[in-house]
Amino acid sequence: MAAEHGPADIYDTSGDGIEPKTAAEVAAAGHRAAEAAADFLQALTGCMTPMNLRPVYRDVEYATQMLERTARALSEAAQSINSGVPLALKFGDGEEPWTEARGGPVLSPLQILSLAKTAGGLAPEETTTYSAAIQELKPLPALIADKQKMEAREQSRAEGQELHDELLADMESRSCASCGAAPGDPCTAASGNLTGPHAARRHTSPLAAGHPEAAAGVRRVDPKFLHR
Ligand SMILES: [Zn+2]
Repeated sequence: MAAEHGPADIYDTSGDGIEPKTAAEVAAAGHRAAEAAADFLQALTGCMTPMNLRPVYRDVEYATQMLERTARALSEAAQSINSGVPLALKFGDGEEPWTEARGGPVLSPLQILSLAKTAGGLAPEETTTYSAAIQELKPLPALIADKQKMEAREQSRAEGQELHDELLADMESRSCASCGAAPGDPCTAASGNLTGPHAARRHTSPLAAGHPEAAAGVRRVDPKFLHR
């Protein structure tokens, strides 16, 4: 069954070989992913094979929360757009949203929600709707117009991330003489936050010795500092 298009579901991605999705469908996909991640988290706690799943659990917990936040913001933004909610022409700080400087002229879901909030109490001439705003944009800045550039960037970022994760796993695969972390567990600071890896373990990693530059940048960040 074809989904009903919202007033701003106007960009046809089929020319790029990608099946077009309405914003509501994209949000629904996000909610399904968040549910799947929550199932994964639940499954980890029920694992019958004794393994140290604490680091995995923390990662999946973080991913689950991130997916839930993202899907919620997307579906709220899609609802605002589809019901023609008024958006302020300016952010609360007086800045223009519809400019390249703010990542625009197309806006992020959180920016849309923020403008909808700011629009409360404004005169109609101080507001617009999202579909009206983007219909004035010529040419329409398609998200994937730079698809190839984006793919190349993502590829090199993914490779960098992969090496970072491999290095981190290798450093953490031995116990830490500094904080006493067991093999496979992250280092812990005196505050209780995850940190490191401490120098004591960095020096024991043969992989790090082979990639000194990348190894220098390897950090374990406590997931609570990644939350926004
Ligand atoms: Zn340590």
